[in-house]
Amino acid sequence: MSSNTAPENENVPVIEARGVSRTFHVPRNKAGRNRLRALDGIDLTLGRGETLGLVGESGCGKSTLARVLLMLERPDAGTLRFDGRDPFTLKGKELLAWRRRVQMVFQDPFASLNPRMTAAEIIAEPWRTHRDVQPTKKDRRARVRELLDLVGLREGDAGRYPQEFSGGQRQRIGIARALALEPEVIVCDEPVSALDLSVQAQVLNLLDELQRDLGVSYVFISHDLSVVRHVADRVAVMYLGRIVESGTAEEVFEHPRHPYTAALLSAAPELDPSGERERGERILLKGEVPSPLDPPSGCRFRTRCWKARDICAEEAPRTEHGAACHFPLETAVA
Ligand code: ADP
Repeated sequence: MSSNTAPENENVPVIEARGVSRTFHVPRNKAGRNRLRALDGIDLTLGRGETLGLVGESGCGKSTLARVLLMLERPDAGTLRFDGRDPFTLKGKELLAWRRRVQMVFQDPFASLNPRMTAAEIIAEPWRTHRDVQPTKKDRRARVRELLDLVGLREGDAGRYPQEFSGGQRQRIGIARALALEPEVIVCDEPVSALDLSVQAQVLNLLDELQRDLGVSYVFISHDLSVVRHVADRVAVMYLGRIVESGTAEEVFEHPRHPYTAALLSAAPELDPSGERERGERILLKGEVPSPLDPPSGCRFRTRCWKARDICAEEAPRTEHGAACHFPLETAVA
């Protein structure tokens, strides 16, 4: 069997990335470097109906990874399999047809909806490009109604414009638009960061219900770890283009092994399990993320790590028990 055949097998992960890298050519910096490795050997698996939380400071490569998963950015090394198939071996219409399977919900429901279109027009818009899932003209209204209902809006909302809705309602329209294409995966990029706390919970509950009803998988990008703790089944922590720790949400949040994860958790006091235990005080991350144009040798986190020793500059750590660290934190003894 060709390795590129899409198996209709529920056990095949919906997305599997192996060694995915993406380099950008940028203007030379003072040291003469112009190759920026935004992603460096990413391994990642997304199961069906699962939520994978993606966390890390700004500039770590989360958006670039999202663009690769959306098949908008081509990796320059490694492979991405979608339903067991590498979509980047496809071209033109075929690639477009695969792109439908991964949709996006954006951070800012104010900026991402066209103010001159009604809710119904916004929801129906993706059908213009993806005719394979476009309902017949006769069914279109009914389908828009169904989508409005799915996201908790009313039939009467169809003819209203974005500015007539609240922030939470606008995000619901954005979610309905993503669902119009019957995706298997939705990449949610900070989907609730722009919303009030009480509204955040409602939108998160909606995403949860939709997952239960439709079996959709989410890649959930957020800087807010308490939100990720709430929604994610599994979590991947990124630092300078690499995944430094991954595991179930419980493993990563309750027993972080990578010092970077512990530091991020320490900055979210309501979640901090290990920072205090490890040092008797909050871990403060020193300085900024180094430039990916000139990343530190060995372990990329070592310049900000309180556990770093010589070997950390000499050798990139291998990933063991989910963490890429020479001196992982002790896990609590069960
Ligand atoms: P995050 O989403 O975690 O903030 P990004 O994926 O946006 O991270 O960026 C990772 C790195 O890649 C950053 O240093 C950013 O400047 C760089 N980068 C992202 N996209 C491009 C691009 N199109 N051209 C050049 N550099 C880019």
